[in-house]
Amino acid sequence: MVQSTEFAVHFWGVRGSVATPGPSTVRYGGNTSCVEMRVAGKRIIFDGGTGLRVLGQQLLKETPIEGHLFFSHSHWDHIQGFPFFRPAFMSANRFHIYGGVAPNGASMQQRLSDQMLHPNFPVPMQVMQGDLQFHDVFPGQVLDLGDGVTVEMGLLNHPNTALGYRVSLNGRSAVYATDTEHYADHVDENLVHLCRDADVLIYDACYTDEEYHDEISSRRGWGHSTWQEALRLAKVAKVKHPIMFHHDPDHEDEFLEAVEMDVKAAYPGACLAREGMVINLVGKEDTEIVYHPPSELEPDTEMEAQSIPSMATK
Ligand SMILES: [Zn+2]
Ligand SMILES: [Zn+2]
Repeated sequence: MVQSTEFAVHFWGVRGSVATPGPSTVRYGGNTSCVEMRVAGKRIIFDGGTGLRVLGQQLLKETPIEGHLFFSHSHWDHIQGFPFFRPAFMSANRFHIYGGVAPNGASMQQRLSDQMLHPNFPVPMQVMQGDLQFHDVFPGQVLDLGDGVTVEMGLLNHPNTALGYRVSLNGRSAVYATDTEHYADHVDENLVHLCRDADVLIYDACYTDEEYHDEISSRRGWGHSTWQEALRLAKVAKVKHPIMFHHDPDHEDEFLEAVEMDVKAAYPGACLAREGMVINLVGKEDTEIVYHPPSELEPDTEMEAQSIPSMATK
């Protein structure tokens, strides 16, 4: 049997902290963290920000599906799309859901369930009819998803901790590493290890160095990094394509376009993540980046007309 060599990275939500709809964010996108990797037939999803709702609409067309959903951590911008992830409500679908254990001992299952409890949300997680299988994971662990696909976990530097993930197939790798703050005096060894020689590194570039070190309102200790630090890390770890991710909600399109020009000038192969962007790791040496504007991703009206019955009545 010929093994599938498919390895594509789809960006469904690239914004950090809070969703930012509106005319000044249409080009980069306003949905919060959600990245999907389609690797050798596997559907691997990272984080459940509001971008997960949009991905869910696409997945409805492919039911029944089996997917792997990895959470970096449970800050709101990484879990708020989960209650609106419609494929999880359908009994035909199966999702393996992975996350670290929080410092207070709460598993990812516990935290996803907590956000759906009354009076914060009308529909508890038990209403989800999909086969949801939860797994606690730990830094340093390597999971074998089968067909040559592995996922390695690494610790990030973030309040209440977060996990980064490296997906590999046949010597090609893509790393998802948000939210994380760099160190003042050295490059984070955990991250250098996680993204060594990676083709793609999706990294928390929430701020510019200037903002981070701003004397009046410094962002030190907030748990996020800068695009300049992304490139420093990428150089040390020999990453081909560093992708700036988790855009600050106050960064409008014009600002991000200016940043992107600087990023591209400083590091050939680097760019900013945009909602609708797809990176295809075509071969060992080839990478193709295409961009589908969000308007192309809108669901057809028939799909939109369906609703989750229990959601409508509670
Ligand atoms: Zn975040
Ligand atoms: Zn966070």
